Amino acid sequence: ATPTAIMVGTGLGAERGILFKNAVALERIASLDTVVLDKTGTLTRGQPEVVEVATADGVGEADVLRLVAAVERESEHPLAEAIVASATSRGIEIPRAVEFEAVPGHGAIARVDGRRVAVGNQRLLDRERVALDGLADRAGVLAEEGRTVVRVAVDGKAAGLIAIADAARDTAAEAVAALKEIGITPVMLTGDNEATARRIAAEVGIDEVLADVLPGDKAAKVAELQAAGRKVAMVGDGVNDAPALAQADVGIAIGAGTDVAIETADVVLMRSDPLDVATAVRIGRGTVHKMR
Ligand code: ADP
Ligand code: MG
Repeated sequence: ATPTAIMVGTGLGAERGILFKNAVALERIASLDTVVLDKTGTLTRGQPEVVEVATADGVGEADVLRLVAAVERESEHPLAEAIVASATSRGIEIPRAVEFEAVPGHGAIARVDGRRVAVGNQRLLDRERVALDGLADRAGVLAEEGRTVVRVAVDGKAAGLIAIADAARDTAAEAVAALKEIGITPVMLTGDNEATARRIAAEVGIDEVLADVLPGDKAAKVAELQAAGRKVAMVGDGVNDAPALAQADVGIAIGAGTDVAIETADVVLMRSDPLDVATAVRIGRGTVHKMR
């Protein structure tokens, strides 16, 4: 009955756009107790939008956006795209940046109009030894509202903040509830900062949050959970997520995600609906049950 059960499970999955790439995945998914979910693009829509530009005293909004957009036009980060789109929609002419440098998990740096412009998270500002000063309070408030706060430093001084919103997917909360209902603990994993991550986690019903995780450290976080005896699936969409997908007992990719994530995963959710994670577990459990 083993091959039959696997055929049935694979078929049930296919009907719902859940692609099990191998029989082992169908079996392993049955015994999970933990599902780690990437925040951006997995629990959220991955369509970031600029919602506020705050500036230091004496600095104009358009000036900040112009410098930042110049740097971000050279970057491939999803946040960069949102910032360039916002500058363009405001009719800002974006100058050319030189000496561009991407700093993974931190941000990006380049020279624009002869000035050194650093764009990224708090970690990047710390690295650059730039204090946020008068902008610190606003940054805190925005993060608590669930915004990703991009800091801007020009020639070693804080010049502004760009608040970016990325709404939770419509079914994210339902998906988390469905996992809890079948006895699985959901965990959020993100490179974004703790306050922003906690807010989105609270919105969708996740208590366990691993935030401020560098791209190269995501797999190690999954391994730590496994070392504690947990059976772990990782759900992700990004290039950053691929090593964690490979490390997990079951790697699950969002269909709308990057090719690398899809190739690395054991299971692909073709409808890009996080609700399908719980469905995949239920199909796996049904399959294993039939095998006994
Ligand atoms: P994730 O996709 O999980 O949020 P990343 O490691 O890609 O994680 O990024 C972590 C954080 O680094 C982002 O949330 C952002 O604050 C900052 N960051 C990285 N690249 C950029 C960039 N090009 N522009 C602005 N911020 C960036
Ligand atoms: Mg992502």
